[in-house]
Formats: sequence, structure tokens, C-alpha cells
Amino acid sequence: MDYFYGPGRNHLFVPGPVNIPEPVIRAMNRNNEDYRSPAVPAMTRTLLEDVKKIFKTTTGTPFMIPTTGTGAWESALTNTLSPGDRIVSFLIGQFSLLWIDQQQRLNFKVDVVESEWGQGANLDVLTSKLAADRAHTIKAICIVHNETATGVTNNLVAVRKLLDDYRHPALFLVDGVSSICALDFRMDEWGVDVALTGSQKALSMPTGMGIVCASPKAMEASKTAKSVRVFFDWKDYIKFYNMGTFWPYTPSIQLLYGLRAALDLIFEEGLENVIARHRRLGKATRLAVEAWGLKNCTQKEEWYSDTVTAVVVPPYIDSSEIVRRGWKRYNLSLGLGLNKVAGKVFRIGHLGNLNELQLLGCLSGVEMILKDVGYPVKLGSGVAAAAAYLQNNIPLIASRI
Ligand code: PLP
Repeated sequence: MDYFYGPGRNHLFVPGPVNIPEPVIRAMNRNNEDYRSPAVPAMTRTLLEDVKKIFKTTTGTPFMIPTTGTGAWESALTNTLSPGDRIVSFLIGQFSLLWIDQQQRLNFKVDVVESEWGQGANLDVLTSKLAADRAHTIKAICIVHNETATGVTNNLVAVRKLLDDYRHPALFLVDGVSSICALDFRMDEWGVDVALTGSQKALSMPTGMGIVCASPKAMEASKTAKSVRVFFDWKDYIKFYNMGTFWPYTPSIQLLYGLRAALDLIFEEGLENVIARHRRLGKATRLAVEAWGLKNCTQKEEWYSDTVTAVVVPPYIDSSEIVRRGWKRYNLSLGLGLNKVAGKVFRIGHLGNLNELQLLGCLSGVEMILKDVGYPVKLGSGVAAAAAYLQNNIPLIASRI
């Protein structure tokens, strides 16, 4: 037996994959179906319309692809760019690093703009690059909206403004894997050309569906982009969209029903309420970290993430030990520090279908672990700080008013 079940619920606080709500689990517990029957295309049509709402787009074309965030990256890049194209990409943590690695392996010429981990994208460097690029050799700007490794949220409005100020036609490609459906994200208003997410993050579904949304400009670029693509080719999807059957290959029926249930929950709560809830969860977590006397890995308030907090531990503590102990002793799953911040930070994911009392359970677990590993924390201090804030700010549950 390689799975060790603990008593009670596992407190899953990694920043994805996240806890799946019961209605979504139940909706997926069903047999396979003929995806060529009239039922599946009808459901797909409404899902495609509804998925646009979480991207806040009316003009975008969505693709629900059997893949993960990594495949969604590849879909965004290969459908819009050609080998040798120059792109500007921001390196601020492990996930932006992995995306840049993919961009380089796909033979794009990447201007890597690096920041210290814990800081956001360096927009001064972007400004000088755009100012110098009168010939418009930069074909795309690639940015991770929310860097899950460090808990840094980038300012997409500022990037759009720079592109507009310099009247630069570069495509604006955004990884929204740990932001879309949790943080404020507006594809049309912010002029994002391709946005993408993965099902296991704020949608609170199993891993396995990458959702990519392309603006009309990105769809136009896909007509001339020369990168080799087969499985991810948007053209195949469009062909089947036009035929009204929707699927160029076999969809996961269970994930489609799961997505239906996940979207229903989000719309029932209201997307703006979902975003506000994440703001509360983020703020409460940061108040707890402050009360413990620990530092947030994110260096400035303007970059604070409301979906994940990376907590810096003192040098005499190995943060991996905190994660190990959480799992072994308290049935609490926290996120490890990755790459440059391995051993130095642990991460609390606070995204998806999650409420305030669940978060308080996690925070009380973290306090006990901190005491276990020799950090002088006053038990209850973080929980009290978070609860005091939450008690004043939690609204009535929208569906129960
Ligand atoms: N982008 C971000 C911001 C992520 O957090 C992750 C995974 O955690 C990915 C991309 C990669 O997604 P996946 O592991 O689903 O391929």
C-alpha cells in the first residue's frame, strides 16, 4: 500500500492542486458517454460560452484542451509565434523559469528579464526595450500573472499601458494558472491576447484540462505562425467548432461535467464575490504571518498575492521540515519552497473552493508545526490576528441571504 490515509480530512493547502468540492466530485462520478451524441456538443457549447466569463472576455475564443498548465503554455506559444521570433519574458520564480525554458526549447529568441525572487516583473527594463524597438522586432511579451513559487502578483494593467504608450503591436501572452477565477483578471479590458489556466487551480477541479483563450488578434496571428503544432493546433478545434461537433479528439466526459459543476458553483457565489473571498483569505494569511514575526517572501505590498503566500523561515530552520511535519503529524499539506527558495520558504495556498474557517485550521496547524521545529511562536497568535480581521469582514454567504 503506498497511500497512507490519515484520520479526518487532509488539509490541502498546497497552491494547486487544490481541494475539489463535493458537488464537483459527484458531478464527475459518472459513466463514459458517446461524445458524438447530441448531448455532449450541446454541453460543450454552453461551457465554451461560460468559460469566457471567467476570462472576462466577449471577443476571445476559448479552447478546453486535455492537458495541464504546461500544455496550455505550449498551445499559446506555438499557435501565435514562429521559430526565431523575439519575445520578452519575465523571470521571477520557478514557474516563469519553466515557461522560459519551454520558450527557449521551442526556438524562440527570448529576452529574459530577471528579478530577484520575491519581486515582480521589472517593468523599467520592459520600458527601455519597447522604447528601443522602433522596428517592432519584439513579437510577444510573456508574463506569469501570479508566480506561484514566490506569491508575487504582477501588474498586468501596467504592462498593457506600456504597450499602448509605445504603440507596440507585440502580443500579450499571460499565464493565469494561479490567478484566473481567483484574482481580478480582465482579458478584454487589459488587451490580453492569450490567457490560460489549468483546471486544478482556482477552478477546483482535477488536473487535466488546460483552458486557453485567444483574442481576435491572436487568432489572426495563428494563421501565419509557423511553429510546428499538431495536438495543440487551434485550427483543428475551429474546424470542429464550425461543424458543431466541437471535439477534434476524445474529450474527458467526466472533466466536462466537472467543469459544469465548478462553473455553476462559481456563478452561484458570483465571480466578484469569489475574487473578494480570495482577497480576504490572502489578507488574513498575511496578518497571521506578521503575528508570527515571520517575513513574506514577496518584497512589496503591491505584489502581494491573494492566492498563495510564501513564508520565509529563519536560517536555522529548514522549511522542507515544516512541510514534512505538517503531512506526518497534522494531516496538513503545505507547499515546498522551490529551486532558489528551497529550504527557505514554505507556501500556504489559499485558492479555489475554500472558506475562512478552513484557512484558520491551516493557520493553527502551521503554528503547531513552527513550535515543533523550534521557532518561538505564541500558539494562537496568527489565528487570532487572522480571525479578528475575518470576523469583521466575512459577508453573509451569497446563496443564503
Ligand atoms: N504556471 C503556473 C503559474 C503554475 O503555478 C503552474 C503549476 O503549478 C504551471 C504554470 C504549470 O502547470 P501544470 O503543472 O499544470 O503543467
